[in-house]
Amino acid sequence: MSKLLPAHRTECVDTNVWLQFTQLAADYKAVNLGQGFPDFSPPEFAQEAFCKAVSGGHQMHQYTRPFGHPPLVKILAKFFGRIVGHEIDPFEDVLVTVGAYQVLFCTFQALIDEGDEVIIVEPFFDCYQPMVKMAGGKAIYIPLRPKVEGSTVLSSGDWVLSPEELASKFTPRTKAIIINTPNNPLGKVFKREELQMIADLCIKHDVLCISDEVYEWLTYDGNKHVKMASLPGMWERTITIGSAGKTFSATGWKVGWAISSGQIVKRLKAVHQMSIFVCATAAQEAVARGFEREYELFGTPESYFQQLPAMLHQKRDKLASCLQSVGLQPIMPEGGYFMITDISSVDFNDSMSTEDEPHDFRFVKWLTKEKGLATIPVSVFYNPEHKKDFDKYIRFCFIKEDSTLDAAQDILRKLSQRH
Ligand code: PMP
Ligand code: GLN
Repeated sequence: MSKLLPAHRTECVDTNVWLQFTQLAADYKAVNLGQGFPDFSPPEFAQEAFCKAVSGGHQMHQYTRPFGHPPLVKILAKFFGRIVGHEIDPFEDVLVTVGAYQVLFCTFQALIDEGDEVIIVEPFFDCYQPMVKMAGGKAIYIPLRPKVEGSTVLSSGDWVLSPEELASKFTPRTKAIIINTPNNPLGKVFKREELQMIADLCIKHDVLCISDEVYEWLTYDGNKHVKMASLPGMWERTITIGSAGKTFSATGWKVGWAISSGQIVKRLKAVHQMSIFVCATAAQEAVARGFEREYELFGTPESYFQQLPAMLHQKRDKLASCLQSVGLQPIMPEGGYFMITDISSVDFNDSMSTEDEPHDFRFVKWLTKEKGLATIPVSVFYNPEHKKDFDKYIRFCFIKEDSTLDAAQDILRKLSQRH
């Protein structure tokens, strides 16, 4: 065997949809409703905090505490302690990382052993599966399904887990379940009862819950985000994942965090210490200032955690009416900044695609190359066995300037006139 061959653990990492479709959007100068990031600046106070950090003296340009800049872990503990209703120790129970991606990586590496099973709720943020595999774990899938099979589903809330099916996925080898609320790409915000059902199973089977809550502030129509760690008996078995990229509309800052019991965070710290060691100081300082501001303004109209969802609510409705006006039925997201829609009724000429590609891949490529509108195929959020059942949907990102959404609307209108 050649010594030049890579380690087996890298073999589960295939091409990456974000690289592929972001490049495609750039190559064709398409209106980009694909990859999820704002095409506008973070709020003034956040930008100012970042500038102030950068010009804030020599320490801001040197290493800070490896497991999180002290002002940041202190305010994260204070802020989330108030919400979860549990005292959070800033130095024991919090780890700051390079975005939520790195928390996910540290979590799987730190907690999953060879052969452990991890239950993944579909649709899921695509990196969960390769990360579980890389850690030696086995992914077990449970899909959210439309409540009434075959009927027209209009809201992400109509996609639910079957309690019996979920219960059947738990085995003596189950180590963890990973959930994402609000969900990317569906926009489902899990209701308290749904979380309680998952929590009961976690407690019954002594299983960990990895709760990816990066879109926690983005909920609409009165839907409330409930933190899994706040449910009775869940604090000690939940790893809550957050992201400053989503919180302050600054995805390029790449600051994320894990909050859990000190015992668990200690293991995550070990992986962090051996991979990244310490994250960028100035970005953490800026995020700390942002949270300090939000702590004071919490629940008031000036809070960014009120203003951002209010702005996105309008953008969501704008995109939804645009899709409806061209005969596409959106599944209305209760949260997050993505919307999926069924494209099976749209005729398209995909002579450029290869036969074996899923329907949604072919559609997205055609829409980007021929019509200049970039989106993301939803089957990427499913395991290979379920992709076929969900390849009639595409995902639009709506955290974009109104002018970008208008440009997308023009393209879709022209397309519908053709039919
Ligand atoms: N989880 C979900 C559900 C996401 O959509 C993203 C977005 N990339 C991440 C985690 C990673 O976030 P970050 O940019 O902070 O690494
Ligand atoms: N979370 C973002 C999305 O779903 C970005 C993903 C990425 O760049 N890997 O679009």
